[in-house]
Amino acid sequence: MTVHFPFQNTYAALPDGFFARVAPTPVASPRLIKLNRPLAQHLGLDPDWLDSPEGTEILAGQRIPDGAEPIAMAYAGHQFGHFVPQLGDGRAILLGEVIDADGVRRDIQLKGSGPTPFSRRGDGRAALGPVLREYIVSEAMAALGIPTTRSLAAVVTGENVMRETALPGAVLTRVASSHIRVGTFQYFAARGDTEGVRRLADHVIARHYPQAASAMRPYHALLEGVIARQAELVARWLLVGFIHGVMNTDNTSISGETIDYGPCAFMDAYDPAMVFSSIDEQGRYAYANQPRIALWNLTRLAECLLPLLADAQDKAIEQAQAILGEFAEKFTAAYQAGLRDKIGLFTTRDGDEALVQDLLDAMAKNQADFTLTFRHLGEAALGADNDHEVQQLFADPAAYDEWAVRWRARIGDEPQAATARRTAMRAVNPAFIPRNHRIEEVIQAAVTRDDFAPLEKLLTVLSRPYEDQPALSEYAEAPEPHQRVLQTFCGT
Ligand code: AMP
Ligand code: MG
Repeated sequence: MTVHFPFQNTYAALPDGFFARVAPTPVASPRLIKLNRPLAQHLGLDPDWLDSPEGTEILAGQRIPDGAEPIAMAYAGHQFGHFVPQLGDGRAILLGEVIDADGVRRDIQLKGSGPTPFSRRGDGRAALGPVLREYIVSEAMAALGIPTTRSLAAVVTGENVMRETALPGAVLTRVASSHIRVGTFQYFAARGDTEGVRRLADHVIARHYPQAASAMRPYHALLEGVIARQAELVARWLLVGFIHGVMNTDNTSISGETIDYGPCAFMDAYDPAMVFSSIDEQGRYAYANQPRIALWNLTRLAECLLPLLADAQDKAIEQAQAILGEFAEKFTAAYQAGLRDKIGLFTTRDGDEALVQDLLDAMAKNQADFTLTFRHLGEAALGADNDHEVQQLFADPAAYDEWAVRWRARIGDEPQAATARRTAMRAVNPAFIPRNHRIEEVIQAAVTRDDFAPLEKLLTVLSRPYEDQPALSEYAEAPEPHQRVLQTFCGT
């Protein structure tokens, strides 16, 4: 069977300086360990063909499909606040773009497919553990309804990669609405290449913000659009307890998708200062810092766009500042609306923000599990008889009881039936998130025993995060103290 990728590439048609043409490096003995069949179908690809030896060769980088124009994209970026003028795809190769069933253009990229001119000192490879982590977490995010890159496939290479120890190598096939980053703009801006910035901005408008093209000031509209999507995205992260871990400007997508899953994690017990990443020693990318960092990253984007906003620099700065000023309002609106939904409010009243903040404070003080508190609160919406499950998540159950009295008074004023409230709450408060200890179990089984059954099981649970799955209810549970994973690693 030969079915081809229906590539329609646009990025590879941009000027030479935007990328380097480079083919993936073949590997020793590729083996497909996971294929995302529904996603393949959505992309117009035949899953059975991808599952064939020929398909696996493509997913491993052994063979370049017809119509692909393999490139490594150039970008720069602020890493932990320090500017690096040239990063680029050091271990990822974009095969090309296809149009999915919704009419959306999608990049198909191999990650871990060998060195590129942007590899610097890296080997261009990825280890199996981080590939599985990205696969699991990105697909979980998609099932939660949060904008994200997707994972089409994972292949083990049959080769070891050297990290602290020798680890099995793997290649992830990543799908994104594009891989353009804030750092992509910075790459051209840092070179004083205003024409490059303009070319890129025009490409991004056509691709991601088509309504900006007909705006009175398209580049202002572009900046507004990126800010709106990032504000919404980071609010969504906070509402599920997600910590990206490496919110560098090169890991901030222009399309507003979550991208570059490294030492990311979902928190168990609620703690606004939570940091998992071993390299984030200062807590720059801590849970509650994420909105502030997103704005910082967007400010770097605005700086790149200044020459396109107005001829006079002081005018451009003033206009950029006005647009950046909208971030806080947009983020707060999305975050507060999400919190109201999480505690089952159908209406908005003065005092709601304080009510929900008091719950969060009590959760933090009492090490209450973030996900389970809100999930079980949905049951408590039926009446105080159902308080037990949520109550026992608090070190001091009285902390919940005091809050619940005020919450009941507030929801009691709304006309909706308790069952309607419970249904609404269950639709926004997931039962299943990719908990760290479960991800670690999957990685351990895969890396040490070549056993991918736990991966399949976890992916099944996470594909329906808002449904109770009684047979798999242990996946909803918080880790026991001895199961807790408190640190994650990027593994690059
Ligand atoms: P990250 O922190 O994973 O977002 O990566 C930052 C930069 O390092 C990007 O330019 C990556 O392409 C590059 N990089 C990360 N790991 C490797 C590797 N193993 N080989 C080559 N480049 C890498
Ligand atoms: Mg990155």
